[in-house]
Amino acid sequence: MRDSGLQKSGHGLPKPRGELKELNNFRSLLQPWRVEDSAELYGIHSWGAGYFDVSSNGDVVICPNGPQGPRVSIPEIIEGIKERGYDMPCLLRVENILDSQIASLHESFGKAIKTLGYKGSYRGVFPVKVNQQQQVIEEIADFGARYHHGLEVGSKGELIAAVSHLSDREACLICNGYKDGEFIDLGLQAQRIGLNVFFVIEMPGELETILQRARIHDMRPKLGVRCKLSTRASGHWAESGGERSVFGLSPAEIVDLIDKLKANDMLDCLRLLHYHLGSQVSNIRDIRLGVQEGARFYAGLVQEGAPMGYIDLGGGLAVDYDGSHTNYVSSRNYTLDEYSADIVEAIMATLDEVNVPHPHIVTESGRATVAYYSLLLFNILDASVLEPMQLPEELPEDTPEPVKNLREVLVNISPRNLQECYNDAIYYRGEMRQLFATGAVNLRQRCLSERFFWAILMRISEEKGKLKVIPRDLQDIDTYLADIYYGNFSIFQSLPDSWAIDQLFPIMPVHRLQECPTRLGIISDITCDSDGQINHFIDQQGDKRTLELHPLKPGEEYYLGVFLVGAYQETLGDLHNLLGDNNVVSIRIEDDGSYEFVREQEGDTVADVLSYVEYDPRRIMESLRSTAERAVREGRITPSQRFAFLQIFEDGIRGYTYFER
Ligand SMILES: *Cc1c(COP(=O)(O)O)cnc(C)c1O
Repeated sequence: MRDSGLQKSGHGLPKPRGELKELNNFRSLLQPWRVEDSAELYGIHSWGAGYFDVSSNGDVVICPNGPQGPRVSIPEIIEGIKERGYDMPCLLRVENILDSQIASLHESFGKAIKTLGYKGSYRGVFPVKVNQQQQVIEEIADFGARYHHGLEVGSKGELIAAVSHLSDREACLICNGYKDGEFIDLGLQAQRIGLNVFFVIEMPGELETILQRARIHDMRPKLGVRCKLSTRASGHWAESGGERSVFGLSPAEIVDLIDKLKANDMLDCLRLLHYHLGSQVSNIRDIRLGVQEGARFYAGLVQEGAPMGYIDLGGGLAVDYDGSHTNYVSSRNYTLDEYSADIVEAIMATLDEVNVPHPHIVTESGRATVAYYSLLLFNILDASVLEPMQLPEELPEDTPEPVKNLREVLVNISPRNLQECYNDAIYYRGEMRQLFATGAVNLRQRCLSERFFWAILMRISEEKGKLKVIPRDLQDIDTYLADIYYGNFSIFQSLPDSWAIDQLFPIMPVHRLQECPTRLGIISDITCDSDGQINHFIDQQGDKRTLELHPLKPGEEYYLGVFLVGAYQETLGDLHNLLGDNNVVSIRIEDDGSYEFVREQEGDTVADVLSYVEYDPRRIMESLRSTAERAVREGRITPSQRFAFLQIFEDGIRGYTYFER
């Protein structure tokens, strides 16, 4: 489907790995590498939404108000983080970006509403599950108040958090998810103090509990109903929508609900229609079909006599992670303005036809609201580079046949027989591995066969650039030959979707961009898990298997940034290998380009993560003390060695769970 390397970086030059260095040297003879080349190579202007750029001295800069506003260098921020005593990895949050995203959502809907002459207004809500961090919810509630931006919750915990932040009476507080009596009581109390609470009925059984609690508290709740659309969106989250979705009522169940509400004299409580197609809907066609069908449901409820007033389209507004602007899963084939105009237009067209007044439009955009505002920064600890193989001129007398065959393969490689040579190399290496397992060949002989094997792969990699069509097997070779850059972070903790659903995030060095990146690498984290790897990277044409990186310089840190990680990644992470939460720093950038560290959150210590798995760090120290005392008694260590032993363990237990320099 797609392969790796420079071919797609837009320079229009041929690619293969072996030639990359030469190619770049060649380039540098003709014209030096410029920061613009880096910007294009890593696609920063395609996926950065104007929030990120490359400075003339090769740093990635953050521009929270877009290209015209202030810019702050990321390496400079990293220095500031280190001076404050925090190590990498560190999650960097930029509060202004959150504000900018909320503002542009409202401005975009506002523009569509005005141009099209729509009669209702836009009421965005933020789904708390996408990033439950206190500071995020607080910032959204505070900054969002000027637009009546509300919150969406799916559990009692989220509801309590939301009520503690919302004060605007016009902002919506949408209660989705399974609701027990206690959940409903909490929501009713929030309504009593003046919040605009909606209980969305997701399952037919919920109505009974709501009616009962409302009677007890003598209140009339505002109800919504979640419908199952037959429209389905493609992508990772397709199951959230469509007729087979877990949540939502079928048309028959909706009719039944209306009858029950009528029978209880409660139809006037029904105010909102809700649906959710799934997250990251990358094709605008699915959005349009969904809203058309949803508006029909809405009209149907009005025709049944419900007062209504709100149509809630759920989430789905996608993020263009790879910058390709296509309907590929990690992208979207529409702009925010197209999204809002299409929605407003479709609702209008459908409802005007049947003379139903325009409702307020609610969307529950989570991903698109928060993805941009945080990025993960980490340093590279080491790189493993496959050097050209040392091969003997003459083979020893007792060289096994398969090794001789491998050498034959190596000398005969040409562009015409690459696939054949590849197959042979795999075959003879396999034979040698078997012979080794049975004891027929020794360690040195096996080692010789591996050297020839890798030498063959390197040659094939060089030669394959001359082919018009590169066979699939040979495309994978670049991944085998790629450098491995060891990053100081855990995928399981910090980028769970990269591991779980192969979600792509933009990754790039945050400095040295005035230099040409001459290496091709993959990134490994510091968990000892073979899944702890990033070996797919964004690319305008889809994804690529290796990332262009700079060679490490001795004594100098090399920093990479993973961008657009503000949505879902923070709370889905886990404690694989007991690597805990990383340090978090939030900054706010002022109009004059100065910035302030507004918040810092120290990551987990080793003691923290041990206590999550039910160790008591104090008990651990006690037991270490007595073990060391026994060693003193048995004469194996001196009392002062015991002291040193305990001190090292105490420091370790108080330290950061990641690699510290
Ligand atoms: C997850 C979810 C959202 C958020 O979707 P995004 O695509 O992140 O905007 C909104 N509404 C409901 C009901 C959800 O389950």
